[in-house]
Amino acid sequence: MKNLLEVSNLHVYFETPAGLVRANNGLDLQLEAGGSLGIMGESGCGKTVLVYTLLGLQQPGKIMNGSILFKGRELVNLPEAELNNIRGRQIALIPQNQSTALNPLLKVGEQISEIETALKIPDTGLDNTKHLLAELGLGDIHSVEHILKSYPHQLSGGMRQRVLTAMALLAEPDLLVADEPTTALDASTRTTALNILKKSSSKTSLLVISHDLPALKILCPKLAVMYAGRVVEYSDTESLMENPRHPYSRMLMKYQQSAGFLNMPLTGFESRDLLGDDKGCSFALFCPQATAICLKEIPQEVCLESGRVVCHLYTRNGVQTC
Ligand code: SF4
Repeated sequence: MKNLLEVSNLHVYFETPAGLVRANNGLDLQLEAGGSLGIMGESGCGKTVLVYTLLGLQQPGKIMNGSILFKGRELVNLPEAELNNIRGRQIALIPQNQSTALNPLLKVGEQISEIETALKIPDTGLDNTKHLLAELGLGDIHSVEHILKSYPHQLSGGMRQRVLTAMALLAEPDLLVADEPTTALDASTRTTALNILKKSSSKTSLLVISHDLPALKILCPKLAVMYAGRVVEYSDTESLMENPRHPYSRMLMKYQQSAGFLNMPLTGFESRDLLGDDKGCSFALFCPQATAICLKEIPQEVCLESGRVVCHLYTRNGVQTC
């Protein structure tokens, strides 16, 4: 199947008073048209920077190198006016923080009307939105009308999350990026949100960033694990969860199995400082299988039968790089 999205060797750096932060550091990923890909990794590993870079909103971060092909078109260095035609219409985002993503001074209905105007969506008198919100489990049309007349602070976290999901789906985008879509939802709202995203995946491709492994299993047949700005393992979700190959993925899965959930960052485990020299494997200081080469040489991507992994363990075993 043809790829909708191809990110290759993406480097996004931030200049800070403390030095250069390599938020995305040679990141590669692909998403097939109509497919759903999950991305997991600790806070600070560069997941959200990737999302904002896809939307051309990575400033003050700089794209130092790499390519982002969307529907075969290069997004890196695309003029702002052309990016504006892609954001919201072709690539839409459900943002991470539902408590701050909505304008506190405008009623929900006014904010939705603003989006419809900005995206040049035909005015349907909010009919589409009402339908979407009702589908998202916000009650009957009467309840939905009440919500449209409410300010964000008058809604629960779950309601705001559903409003944001409906906003992202308004223009029927080719790619829906969901940044922690189940955060702050109670169990029943979470189930509804997952059902809606699952249903949406028949109309749009999905890129889901989440710590919620069971949610990723439901939504995404493919999974990428990120560490220190790179994808370190990519595979079928089931294979990756059952038989992770990268030592970091193994650590994540083991923690999830023992704790019953994945609480990031992992207890007693800190993300690598993204400042400093870029040499050797980023995970070397924490890896139980590290050897001398891991401190000296940056590992390259290796193709396995189940996917791809970035680790010297596999190159040492004579497996070919991709
Ligand atoms: Fe561990 Fe070395 Fe593999 Fe890095 S390259 S994950 S340090 S074995």
